[in-house]
Amino acid sequence: MNIHEHQAKALLKTYGLPVAAGVAIFKTEEAEAAAKSLPGPLYVVKSQIHAGGRGKGKFKELGPDAKGGVRLAKTAADVVANAREMLGHTLVTKQTGPAGKQVNRLYIEDGADIARELYCSLLVDRGSGEVAFVVSTEGGMDIETVAHDTPDKIVTVDIDPAAGVTAEDVGKLVAALKLEGPAAEDAKAVFPALYKAFVDTDMSLLEINPLIVLKDGHLRLLDAKVSFD
Ligand code: ADP
Ligand code: MG
Repeated sequence: MNIHEHQAKALLKTYGLPVAAGVAIFKTEEAEAAAKSLPGPLYVVKSQIHAGGRGKGKFKELGPDAKGGVRLAKTAADVVANAREMLGHTLVTKQTGPAGKQVNRLYIEDGADIARELYCSLLVDRGSGEVAFVVSTEGGMDIETVAHDTPDKIVTVDIDPAAGVTAEDVGKLVAALKLEGPAAEDAKAVFPALYKAFVDTDMSLLEINPLIVLKDGHLRLLDAKVSFD
């Protein structure tokens, strides 16, 4: 079973993880109030479908030059205009297949000032049956491409279930992602919390792509894909 990005983020927030403020909407009429409830000055309008690659996706009903399934907006009016174009339309991404998926809900989220985009996932290692972190400095692209083109940029850290995420594990993840300052400090809480959320709720996959370093130096979970068995 998969849940939507906004539901995954709400769940991860209960574990103290850093996610932006956001509001899920189903109708264009709800867009203005959603935007106005956020701090601004940047907003992001995100299609909620059970498939990735939304940012680079295309809407079937709109022209080839129309924007994709994740859009930046600078005003509440801009959020409304984008919501109108997206809701009810069919988004085709690398992961939907040619039929695409109808966008029936949007997540209006606070825009982030991004310094770096990283990749972080947790999964159950087929060999050992233990949970492993898979991380890469190459965030924001699909991990299959990274695995194919630059496999040396993917680092796996196996977690001993008896010990949980140790300081040594955090150190390995921090080094692999080249985190410094506030981000390295945040990592001490973020990685154990991701692990706790994964184990507590019996996830089969937790993928944060991208995990970002904000311009202020802190970590934030910008996307979240969660699957349960
Ligand atoms: P997908 O993986 O389905 O394309 P993402 O949520 O990863 O969707 O969004 C795609 C890209 O859009 C991200 O890599 C990031 O560059 C940008 N983005 C997403 N959410 C935000 C946000 N809240 N603020 C700023 N940029 C964002
Ligand atoms: Mg993503």
